[in-house]
Amino acid sequence: MLFDPKQENLPYTFALIKPDTTLKPNVVQEVVNKIEAAGLTIKNFVQVQQLYREEVLNLFYKQQKYMDEIMTYMLSGECVMFLLCHETENPILVWKKMIGNKDPIEAKKADPQSLRGIYGTSIIKNEFHGSDDPFSANKERDIFKFPIPQKIPDFKFDKMLVSLETLFKFLYPPNLEHSNALERLDIFAIYGPCVNYHSVDQCLCRECALVGKEHLEGVRESLIASEQTKLGIKIRPQPTTATKTQLPQRVQLPPIRLLKEEDIKQIYQSLCEKCQFHCNGYAHLQGGRNMQHIMTDQELNTLAKEMNKQEILELLYSEKGNAANVMIETIDLNEPNHYTKEMIQLLFQELETDYYNRFKFYHLQNVILEDRRIRMNAWMSILINKPIHRFKNPKLVCKVPPEMRKNPESIHYTINRILPLNQTYKKKDITKMPLDFPPNLADKEKLNPNEEKLALLKKLHRDTHHMVEIQDAKKVVSNGVYLLRKYNDGRNGEWDNYSSLKAMNRGSYVNYEEKKRKEKL
Ligand SMILES: [Zn+2]
Ligand SMILES: [Zn+2]
Ligand SMILES: [Zn+2]
Repeated sequence: MLFDPKQENLPYTFALIKPDTTLKPNVVQEVVNKIEAAGLTIKNFVQVQQLYREEVLNLFYKQQKYMDEIMTYMLSGECVMFLLCHETENPILVWKKMIGNKDPIEAKKADPQSLRGIYGTSIIKNEFHGSDDPFSANKERDIFKFPIPQKIPDFKFDKMLVSLETLFKFLYPPNLEHSNALERLDIFAIYGPCVNYHSVDQCLCRECALVGKEHLEGVRESLIASEQTKLGIKIRPQPTTATKTQLPQRVQLPPIRLLKEEDIKQIYQSLCEKCQFHCNGYAHLQGGRNMQHIMTDQELNTLAKEMNKQEILELLYSEKGNAANVMIETIDLNEPNHYTKEMIQLLFQELETDYYNRFKFYHLQNVILEDRRIRMNAWMSILINKPIHRFKNPKLVCKVPPEMRKNPESIHYTINRILPLNQTYKKKDITKMPLDFPPNLADKEKLNPNEEKLALLKKLHRDTHHMVEIQDAKKVVSNGVYLLRKYNDGRNGEWDNYSSLKAMNRGSYVNYEEKKRKEKL
């Protein structure tokens, strides 16, 4: 890509080493060393076998007077070409000063250290070329189709820029095998963003927490100091430890409990293995007073249920009126849809990222909340057994032009589908899987919590039965119940050969026989 909007173009100059010098590799190496010593950086270093006539014409169109001689010399052998950049100064001027005057004799007089002065032999064989101005530098770069050198933006930690990696750390924490990723995604959008911060109280072990607390105390003191200088309060000379606690502090800051990315980077080496794993594997949601608390899994679960309840209740009101209050009590408030990692990636595929593949949090938020609206409607549709297009819900009406609806920055952003992704997503074709090895237990697909429970029950019922005494048979659910019977009783025991589960009902054969026996007595 010639121009990447995420990056910044660097000023550059075009440089060329002519055939006679290119023949001497040690001289080229010397020149390269000098270039680097001058603080210039070399980009797109190439050695070409032979220039084309047009390239030479384009390169030296200003020297029409010597064109024939230049042409024969330039076509006589290999050349080295590259672009030069400088971090602070203008690379065009730096390079021009390094090579010196066009005429090597003049160059030697003016500056004996100049490259043309040292290696040049005549005005034709002055051995080096450099662009005169930004315009010709651009033109000469274009002749050889070099890309414009670009500055790689500095990496800065920013809460509002979220990478997929961080998001997945939050959605799929290592301690939960079946995290409710969709509910966490909604929480992320509504209360987010999630952060790579860790609490000294909640995340780290005892020893590491001490290291963290010590570090945070330093952070807090430097914060107070900077606040004080900002307010123009003079910092008193350090008092002795005895009087330190008595001095009133003019700037009050609440205690800091969270280690940010920079802090973790600084103390990372002194953490134990377990805590290092924690810092690498988890991302959290901040909460609590001054945002100094990390939301626990339990808090997140409760939050998700409460969120779903509110949303479903609101939707139910518009459809069912006051009956909603009763209905809501009977509804399972766990999100019925499940998205895989691929589906979540698919959700964000049209959003743009910065150089480090981070999304803007506000874009993610818009997309997720839109998707949540769709999921909620689909959920409602199942609950009240009514197709989505017949909902009375006013949220579904939208008269905004499609361009605005596609822009995630716009408040009118919408997704062009009415079903959750897991109902529209096409799975990969598994018929082409190789079948020459036996299926492994580990290859088995993960089950959702409810499916797992069902599978377990099925398995239990396949090879076991409830065994109960005959007098308890009525108390237990009658399906799959085997009655226990004393072996030697035979038909003379308490019950006879006709006894079966069906016969346990009132008026059955057994009861009839029982009655007859009592009457005889
Ligand atoms: Zn943590
Ligand atoms: Zn630790
Ligand atoms: Zn430790």
